[in-house]
Amino acid sequence: MIIVFLGPPGSGKGTYSKRIADIMCVPHISTGDIFRDAMHKKTPLGVRVQKYLTGGELVPSCITNRILRERISHPDCEKGFILDGYPRTLTQARALDTLILVDLVINLVAHEEVLVTKLSARRICAQCGEIYNLANINKVIDGLRYDMPSMLPHTTGVCDKCGGRLVHRKDDQVDVITHRLQINSHQTIPIVNFYRLKGIVEDINVNLGLEKTTPIIVNKIRNRT
Ligand code: AMP
Repeated sequence: MIIVFLGPPGSGKGTYSKRIADIMCVPHISTGDIFRDAMHKKTPLGVRVQKYLTGGELVPSCITNRILRERISHPDCEKGFILDGYPRTLTQARALDTLILVDLVINLVAHEEVLVTKLSARRICAQCGEIYNLANINKVIDGLRYDMPSMLPHTTGVCDKCGGRLVHRKDDQVDVITHRLQINSHQTIPIVNFYRLKGIVEDINVNLGLEKTTPIIVNKIRNRT
């Protein structure tokens, strides 16, 4: 099964999509992770995309589409995969459509106030990419209760999984966050509409937090298979 995760930065897209990929035993493919890894290793791709990532800008689709095409042609993708962070534009959604048929789109939803709080409190392992969140949200916004506990490491600043150092991503600083959220809302709406017309979108509000929302997503997937 091929599943696309959509949702604004801070909605937990990375965490949810990784969890669901583990549960379904399929690869989790994040174009952001691929770019960060390339930057970390200072490969030619990494050098090329660095200015876009640090500025919170989208990497041009000609680069992103090629990277994605190469990744999904890998044999581990034969039984399906989960896409996180791709497609980000209608051009990418159309490009993807020429390669494979998406079965389901999980569209994560949350209030903007929650997104800004979660993003500025996000920490990522510099070594393995594991995500943590220092913000503990428990409040009612626009009549809906958001109960989203923090996801803390056992030792402050240290990754539970690999012992790597936890860092605050440059594009998770408040000035860049606002810019990323603006880019996102302009570009995501047409993509959601593109997939809505195909009847494959499930909207999921993440207000109940990771532990309660994950089984809801799993049920949606099972109902579609
Ligand atoms: P993410 O980890 O998904 O938030 O991505 C981090 C950064 O990688 C983004 O701010 C973009 O600069 C770049 N990026 C990731 N995926 C894409 C994509 N599909 N198209 C363009 N740029 C991307």
